Amino acid sequence: MESLKNKLTEEGRAIGSAILKVSDFLNHQIDVQLMKEIGRELADRFKGEKIDKVLTAESGGIAVALATAEAIVCSKALFAKKTVPNTMTGERYSAEARSFTKGTVSNLCVDKELLKEGERILIVDDFLAHGQAALALADIAAQAGCQVVGVGAVIEKAYQGGAERLREKGFRVESLSRIKSIDDGNVIFG
Ligand code: 5GP
Repeated sequence: MESLKNKLTEEGRAIGSAILKVSDFLNHQIDVQLMKEIGRELADRFKGEKIDKVLTAESGGIAVALATAEAIVCSKALFAKKTVPNTMTGERYSAEARSFTKGTVSNLCVDKELLKEGERILIVDDFLAHGQAALALADIAAQAGCQVVGVGAVIEKAYQGGAERLREKGFRVESLSRIKSIDDGNVIFG
């Protein structure tokens, strides 16, 4: 996706050689036109698949899930929460995801009422790095008896192996941009 690559080159900020800051346009401030394009592109990658619901994790994935669900014309975007709110009083599905970016472990959780057995789920996120968040979301989908259609990422950091890890487990993975490395502050695609 050329517009995304250009944006990453122009406005992405490397933090060391592993982390990319994209808060100008993707996961803090959001470039709405670019996000709509991202949604259309992810929907296009999974065209022909029946998708009942788009699943992500808060907070960086929410806009991506919303844009994708709108483009697919499936009516639901669902995000796993990282802390249990007081209002989540019923039973919930949960799975742990280690964040190598933050050095923390989140317990992702989804209200059991919101995932129904047999639903076909597309998992999306802003980044696919080590694959921990996507694997936790797939685990939650499995606990609910849902089928994962695939995983769509806006930015794949290929050097952290998440896409490979997911494919080894049989998941289809689509990334809109694939970063091979970050060299001296420059994003290298490949
Ligand atoms: P993974 O679970 O695949 O290791 O990492 C994916 C999650 O970590 C995403 O939900 C994203 O929020 C966060 N993440 C991973 N790498 C980066 C990065 O380079 N920059 C930012 N801003 N977030 C990242």
